[in-house]
Amino acid sequence: MSIVEYTDTKAARLQYPRRIVSPRAPSPCCVEENRERIGGMEVEDGETFYYKRCRVCGHTVRFFFTPRTKATRLEIELLRERTRATLH
Ligand SMILES: [Zn+2]
Repeated sequence: MSIVEYTDTKAARLQYPRRIVSPRAPSPCCVEENRERIGGMEVEDGETFYYKRCRVCGHTVRFFFTPRTKATRLEIELLRERTRATLH
């Protein structure tokens, strides 16, 4: 489940790790230089990603990255444990 709420009726907000309110669509300001990483790595369904947010308008995307080697199920579990430990 994503913590990002995409809406055009609310102002963009950053309440990571609980919630991120993001505009539905990116704007011309959403270039790589304006996007900053939010929080640590997240794992969902074996996919590793982190949130990147435009510091101008607040548009947020998930930035997936491909591991150099395919992570084993055990490694994914370990990562998930670590993520959980960080959030608490
Ligand atoms: Zn933007």
